[in-house]
Amino acid sequence: ITSFAGKSVAVFGLGGSGLVTAQALVAGGAEVSAWDDKAEAVAKAAALGIPTVDLRGLDFSRVDALVLSPGVPLTHPKPHWTVELAKAAGVEIIGDIELFCRERRAIAPSAPFIAITGTNGKSTTTALIAHLFRVDGWDVQLGGNIGTAILSLDPPAKDRIHIVECSSFQIDLAPTIDPTVGILLNLTEDHLDRHDTMERYAAIKARLVRGAGTAVVGVDDDWCSTIASDLDKRGVAVERISVRRPVANGYFVDKGRIVEADDAVIREVANLDGIGSLRGAHNAQNAAAAIAAARALSISEAEIVEGLKSFPGLAHRMERVARIGRALFVNDSKATNADAAEKALASYDRIYWIAGGKPKTGGITSLASYFPRIAKAYLIGDAAEEFAATLAGKVETVMSGTMDVAVADAARDAATDGAAEPVVLLSPACASYDQYSNFEQRGDHFRSLVLALDGAKPFVE
Ligand code: ADP
Repeated sequence: ITSFAGKSVAVFGLGGSGLVTAQALVAGGAEVSAWDDKAEAVAKAAALGIPTVDLRGLDFSRVDALVLSPGVPLTHPKPHWTVELAKAAGVEIIGDIELFCRERRAIAPSAPFIAITGTNGKSTTTALIAHLFRVDGWDVQLGGNIGTAILSLDPPAKDRIHIVECSSFQIDLAPTIDPTVGILLNLTEDHLDRHDTMERYAAIKARLVRGAGTAVVGVDDDWCSTIASDLDKRGVAVERISVRRPVANGYFVDKGRIVEADDAVIREVANLDGIGSLRGAHNAQNAAAAIAAARALSISEAEIVEGLKSFPGLAHRMERVARIGRALFVNDSKATNADAAEKALASYDRIYWIAGGKPKTGGITSLASYFPRIAKAYLIGDAAEEFAATLAGKVETVMSGTMDVAVADAARDAATDGAAEPVVLLSPACASYDQYSNFEQRGDHFRSLVLALDGAKPFVE
């Protein structure tokens, strides 16, 4: 990163991406002062040869930029002390994605760059886009919020594509983000704890598409639909995505078929029917957005169709783990709230449901319309009593307590079900912290228990 060569940059937040960012700035000739609230993080940076300085004692009037980790809120009822120091001194505050964008403009402005945001579906869409470009033979650099820090990827080049998932916190720190294709999937009220109002949250997300060469916007919610109209007024090229109704320019979904509309001339580009890794209307939205991005960069329809079919899906998101006879075992551990669990419940007809964990406000009362699809529920963790009360009289429940018991119970019951495809579904509608460190560990546990069952065949398409 050469944009700060010879300049003074304060770096705050030395987790994975912060360390990489500080190293990239040092390598590019910046005068770096790095710090973190945690002593171990500071020690780790120092051991890597990064100059560490307690930023409280730094003269911010001599600093050119403060580079923040996305974990540190930029706006918040109570701003972080580094943010206050930088703001008081009039220093610009940016993050690693902004550094990447400046580098790209400096060294390879024609290098393709796709940025993806939205409240839900970011990781799935990002992974699917990466898959489509790989199938088409591109040198794909995949990172951002989905995992690898953007500055650990290979640098931008014109025969190489960067596909980057962005959280709202990352966009907030990227004032000049200018992707070749920018995708805004949807906006619902989430994460409002950190971005005081929905207006502000929407304005931050909108920035990603406003600077885009082509903006791909899901228009099925009012916030995004308003943003799309605003982009029209600003003269940004917009591809609209809808799973609810036809659009004049963009991609819409009609009974599982994805239809391309170009000035109201319409054509089917792909059929999602039978593509198990992209089940459900929510995945149709993700797939349509991914197709829009691939088409914007001229990937052929044949390659797109091949890529959709071979997309393995992401772990822990309606991940098909195994079959035993006709029964299918699905790991949806990422569903840490009722909204997310709803997507999975809506995708199957005959469900043996493993749910529970550390409960969230509201519980599962909002899921009542899906109860008829549930053959039996196996409840685990702290939420078991509460969920049992909600299900009482509507769904037969078993107080399984732990995952081992729940998997054994559900597998036994599903084995004797006469339905065409009974589904044992872990979609907990709860956080995992009562019994696990995170949702990944919970999903891994489910997967290993399922694969150890008699007759379990790892899932293949
Ligand atoms: P994110 O990265 O935005 O958290 P993921 O792709 O990891 O999203 O999906 C997380 C969960 O969100 C999925 O398990 C599914 O329940 C739900 N989901 C995925 N895509 C969408 C979408 N387009 N709209 C609404 N919900 C979605």
